Amino acid sequence: MNLEFTPEEQAFRDEVRAFIEANYPKHLGDVGLREDLSREDFLAWHKILGEKGWSVPAWPEQYGGTGWTPTQRYIWSEENARVNAVMPLPFGVSMVGPVIYTFGSEEQKAKHLPGIRSGDVWWCQGYSEPGAGSDLASLKTTAVRDGDHYVINGQKTWTTLAQYADWGFFLCRTDTDAAKPQEGISFILVDMKTPGVEVKPIKLLDGGYEVNETWLTDVRVPVENLVGEENKGWTYAKFLLAHERSGIAGVARSKRGVEKLREIAANEMVDGEPLIEDFEFARKVSQLEIDLAALEITELRTLAGEQAGKGPGPESSILKIKGTEIQQRLTELTLEAVGSYAAPYYHSIANDDGSNEYPVGPDYSAHAAETYFNMRKTSIYGGSNEIQRNIITKMILGL
Ligand SMILES: Cc1cc2nc3c(=O)[nH]c(=O)nc-3n(C[C@H](O)[C@H](O)[C@H](O)COP(=O)(O)OP(=O)(O)OC[C@H]3O[C@@H](n4cnc5c(N)ncnc54)[C@H](O)[C@@H]3O)c2cc1C
Repeated sequence: MNLEFTPEEQAFRDEVRAFIEANYPKHLGDVGLREDLSREDFLAWHKILGEKGWSVPAWPEQYGGTGWTPTQRYIWSEENARVNAVMPLPFGVSMVGPVIYTFGSEEQKAKHLPGIRSGDVWWCQGYSEPGAGSDLASLKTTAVRDGDHYVINGQKTWTTLAQYADWGFFLCRTDTDAAKPQEGISFILVDMKTPGVEVKPIKLLDGGYEVNETWLTDVRVPVENLVGEENKGWTYAKFLLAHERSGIAGVARSKRGVEKLREIAANEMVDGEPLIEDFEFARKVSQLEIDLAALEITELRTLAGEQAGKGPGPESSILKIKGTEIQQRLTELTLEAVGSYAAPYYHSIANDDGSNEYPVGPDYSAHAAETYFNMRKTSIYGGSNEIQRNIITKMILGL
């Protein structure tokens, strides 16, 4: 594996850096908490990229992809991480989009792919249920055929940002008598404005609102919203999950996070010395950097495989585990660095219009506690890390 970037790749980096500097919406600045963004904020960069033709780089060119190599896509994600860009959300671009262009009908492609590319249509993911997370195949939401409609009943949960969603993709049971639970599941597209769809907020540990319960009561959906074949939804669901996991390592963003942590630790004083010069703290930051460098090499190796024509396989489970452990460690060390300034929980005060309370600590401490709490999610979503270990045990180690 060659780790050097070629002159063409360097030139590509210059091109995308210049484009980002000229076009990234200034008002988004260096966002602290993503859950504070409005729908328009989330979509602002997506829409600019849609116009440029860069919103769905990984898609086949016939559907609007850029034709970039995996290395170019890696450079693209690094350059966006440099400015902490609010990227197009994965639900349309990396999840349902690839399912639709791979398994969907021509009508579905024509109807749904343009809105995903342009950022005009927001999608949410309706997989998990209160009794079906890791054991997704035990899901109970049903879709019963009634003439040229399905009638859907059930409850989904943890539906991320469904409060903004125009459309959702839902796994529903269409055959309750199938021999195995994986059989008899279908992948159905639902217009979130259909009567009977109800989205209810779940408040998280960090006080934010980014996940929901989604209730479906006698929701009538035209049969043409079924993707692929009836009862074959499990195949499409698994295809989607492999795509979901491969983007989850977040190496470029974590590299930037380490830089920021170093800045904070250089500013925080302990016994008259900058914290970063404290031997024990510096050791922890170095260990994190070593782990991150190892993850980066693993990701580049996976990219080299992709460049040679291999799709995302079980290696994406390794990237997911290590990537999320590093993201969580970063938030732990940031919390440690800002110390007691992380304790006053003044996010709500700071964001409350009209408040004249002074922040208690430096700016960088403002969201340290919330970010720490929020990032606990990363080892759970996209398939928990324990489940990823099971996949590695079976698929890679062959045990
Ligand atoms: C912030 C957030 C956003 C999410 N967004 C979405 C979304 O948009 N759409 C959606 O459909 N879902 C979403 N999810 C749901 C997510 O996919 C599930 O939470 C996840 O799959 C785990 O399922 P569960 O919560 O039911 O936990 P369980 O499956 O009940 O697991 C509980 C614990 O047991 C462990 N465990 C379970 N089975 C095994 C096993 N066989 N071996 C070893 N350990 C095991 C798990 O690792 C976990 O630690 C989101 C979750 C979170 C936290």
